[in-house]
Amino acid sequence: MKILFATPELAPWMKSGGLGEISASLPAALHEAGMDVRILVPAYAPLLAAFPDAKLVAEFAHPGGNLLSARLLEAKAGNGLPLLLIDCPAYYVRAGSAYLDGAGNDFADNHLRFGLLSRIAALLAGSASPLRWRPHVLHCNDWPCGLAPAYLHFMGGATASTVMSIHNLAFQGIFPADTLEALGLSAAAYAIDGVEYWGRLSFMKAGLHYAQRITTVSPRYAEEIQTEAFGYGFAGLLRWRNRDLTGILNGIDTRAWDPATDTYLPRRYEFAHMKGKGANKTALRQRLGLAQESSCPLFGAVSRITHQKGLDLLADIGEEIAQLPAQVALLGAGDKRLEAALMSLAARHPERFSVTLGYDEGLAHQIEAGADMFLMPSRFEPCGLNQMYSLRYGTPPIVRATGGLADTVVDCNEATLADDTANGFVFAEISAQALLGTIRRAISAWHDTTLWRKLQCNGMLLDFGWAKAAAAYKEIYAGLGEKKKADRARSPAAADKAGTAA
Ligand code: ADP
Repeated sequence: MKILFATPELAPWMKSGGLGEISASLPAALHEAGMDVRILVPAYAPLLAAFPDAKLVAEFAHPGGNLLSARLLEAKAGNGLPLLLIDCPAYYVRAGSAYLDGAGNDFADNHLRFGLLSRIAALLAGSASPLRWRPHVLHCNDWPCGLAPAYLHFMGGATASTVMSIHNLAFQGIFPADTLEALGLSAAAYAIDGVEYWGRLSFMKAGLHYAQRITTVSPRYAEEIQTEAFGYGFAGLLRWRNRDLTGILNGIDTRAWDPATDTYLPRRYEFAHMKGKGANKTALRQRLGLAQESSCPLFGAVSRITHQKGLDLLADIGEEIAQLPAQVALLGAGDKRLEAALMSLAARHPERFSVTLGYDEGLAHQIEAGADMFLMPSRFEPCGLNQMYSLRYGTPPIVRATGGLADTVVDCNEATLADDTANGFVFAEISAQALLGTIRRAISAWHDTTLWRKLQCNGMLLDFGWAKAAAAYKEIYAGLGEKKKADRARSPAAADKAGTAA
C-alpha cells in the first residue's frame, strides 16, 4: 500500500508542536508495518540545508490561481523514508515558524503557502501526477492540507482515496471568501456543503467535507469535537460524518523519550533503578536556581503558554503553591500577557518558581526526568504528548479530564490502586481551585513512598509505542481500498462490461 503523507511540519527541521513530532514518527511506524510511505512537506530553510543533494523530480509551473510555481525535490531522511520537498523559496524560506513571523503574527499569505501544499498533494494523488509513484491514499494533516481533498474533488481523475486527520480543531485555516480565485478553486466549491464557513473559506472544513475518512488523535477527542463546546462550529458536520470519523491515540517516539538512554539527562535511570531520577531533580533545581529542599515536591510543565493549555489557572494559584510549599519548573512560550504573569510569579518567588521562555529540547527532557509530577491543566487537549513522556519517566501527570489526557491518565484512588491502573491525577472542572485541590491530593500521595512507587510503576510499564496506532491507520487505509473496489464494481462502466460478458 502506497501512502502520501502531507504535512506542514516535520521534526526535527520544522516543529511548532505535536504535529511535527507525529509527522516524523507515524510515517516511520507505517513503513515498519509494511507500507510504502512518502512525506510531502514544504522545503523550509532547515530542510533545504539538511538535504543539499535533494534530487529534482518534478516541476509545477503555475499550479493554479495565483499560486507560485514550485519544484518537487526528493530526499531520503535518516530513517530511510523518502521525503518530497516542495521547493518554493518565496513561500517557505523565511524567518519564523511554519505559520508565524518572528513577531508571532500569521504570515499574510498563509492561504497561498498552504494552498500550494494542498494543491501539490492533490496533483500527486490524481491521474495527472508527474511522478511514476502513485499513492493509494493521500493522508492530509490539519488545516494546511485541508484544501487537498477539495482540489482533488474538482480536478477529477483522483487515483488516491483521502484521509483528513485533525490534530487540533481550534486551528481552522479561515480566510476571506475572495481568496477562492487566487487559490484556483472552482467557484462551485464555495457552498455550505463545500468550503464555505460563515461567509468565509475554511481549509479545515474543506478537508472535513471532501475527505473520504476523518481521523483525530484520541478516541475521547473524537467524541468531544461532535459537541458544540469542542466542535468550533464543526460539531454538526462532524456528527453528520460520524460514521467516517475515528479517534486513534498517538504514540510517542520511545527511542527519543526513554529515561534509560536519554542523552539530555545528567543521570539516566530506569524502572528497576530509579535512584538516578533523584539526581536529575537535584541537577534541574541547580540549573534553574530553585532551592534544594528535600520535603518540597517539584512540578514540571513544558507547554505552549496559551489559554488552551490552562496555564492561566496555574498563574492564579501561584501564591498558594509557593506556600504549600511546592516548586514549579515551567518551560514554554506563547501568549505575552500570560508569559508576563508567570514571569512575575517567578520574580516574587525565585526559589519556588522557575519560568524559562523559549524552546529548549534538552530542558524539556530534563524537566520530564527531574520533576516529581507534571502539570497539564488543559482546557482541551486533542491527544497531548507530554503526559505520555511523563508516565514513561516516572513523573505522574496531573491533568484535566479531556481528550487524550482522559484516554491515557487514570486518576489515583482506592479502586484504581487496587487494580494497578492508577498512574496520575485527574480533575474535571476548569477552575484554579480544582487544580489546586488536585495538586494538594498529589502532594499527599507523594509523601507515601510505597504508594508513589506503585503509581510510577503503573505508568512506566505502559506501552506508548506507535505500533498500535500504525495498525489502526492501516485498517482505515485498507478499508478505503475495499470501498474503492466495491464502488468500481458498482459503476455504470462495470455494469456495461458485465452486460457484455453475459
Ligand atoms: P501541542 O501540539 O498542542 O503544542 P503536544 O503535547 O501534543 O501539544 O505536543 C507538544 C510538543 O512540543 C511536546 O513534545 C512538548 O514537549 C514540545 N514542546 C512544547 N513547548 C516546548 C518548549 N518550549 N521547549 C521544548 N519543547 C516544547
